[in-house]
Amino acid sequence: MTNTKPLASLSLDLDNLWSYMKTHADPGWETFPSYLDLVVPRILSFLKERNLLITFFIVGQDAALEKNRAALKSLAEAGHEIGHHSFNHEPWLHLYTEEQIEAEIIRAEEVIENVTGRKPIGFRGPGYSVSQTVIDVLIRRGYQYDASTLPTYIGPLARLYYFMTTRLNKEEKSKRDNLFGSIQDGFRPVKPYLWPHKSEGSGRQMVEIPVTTMPIFKIPFHVSYIIYIGSFSPALALLYFKFALRMCRLTGTHPSLLLHPLDFLGRDDIKELAFFPSMNLSKDEKLKMVSEVLRLYADYYKVVTMHEHAREVLAVAGFPKQAASKSS
Ligand SMILES: [Zn+2]
Repeated sequence: MTNTKPLASLSLDLDNLWSYMKTHADPGWETFPSYLDLVVPRILSFLKERNLLITFFIVGQDAALEKNRAALKSLAEAGHEIGHHSFNHEPWLHLYTEEQIEAEIIRAEEVIENVTGRKPIGFRGPGYSVSQTVIDVLIRRGYQYDASTLPTYIGPLARLYYFMTTRLNKEEKSKRDNLFGSIQDGFRPVKPYLWPHKSEGSGRQMVEIPVTTMPIFKIPFHVSYIIYIGSFSPALALLYFKFALRMCRLTGTHPSLLLHPLDFLGRDDIKELAFFPSMNLSKDEKLKMVSEVLRLYADYYKVVTMHEHAREVLAVAGFPKQAASKSS
């Protein structure tokens, strides 16, 4: 029975304390305060107990600081895949010029490889920020997949809620005007697909694995959302998650589920993030919920890294056109 399970991926965006403070424009982020020493060992032992190997998307700025070295190195040593989550974690990455994007990607790549010994082959944009130019740079640099899109219509709503909790000025707001995505993002596919390079006929393309939202309804169900619902009713949260998985099965969607460090941190851990949804819960309440969610996920699916998921997408889609035309 177990070997007939369909495949699904699991990843974690290793957003650090400072990156939340920076997006929220809170003072003090400039010294890059870190909770990695606290949260990384907690996440690693949690995953080990459940025999899960996943993909960690790492921020270059964290890898550039000596204080985070041991924590980041331990991720690779535990056998997890290391992905690229930009250098500066600026959700307005899509506003950069092509040169800036390239410099940002190379800079993070170098420090991440330096610390973990692994060169990332997968990318997730900060705050689901991506553009054709980002994709072109990634393809040029030999990346195998991108995982930056969040196909949902509720991005603008999430942004509105976020702005209500901040005191951003007009310029800061306009930089963040794509935070959590635009209405157009709702029209993006939920299932993985091949995203071509801008120059038509080049045959160059890469796998896009969207953060899965509920098929048809396109409402997010990544773990932070489940926990948020769970802060009102844990039973309802699990029901919602089960329904999302059922929708995936009905539509033949292989999901890619997303975790965040805050899914493993409670009000007892981090005072600076009190403004954040679900930070009213304790660490134990959160861990219990994550545990339930991942148990259901692993019951339905064979849980793999993003890289493995991308390989399967390619195997099903066939080789990129360039390779196919050589053999025909
Ligand atoms: Zn992030």
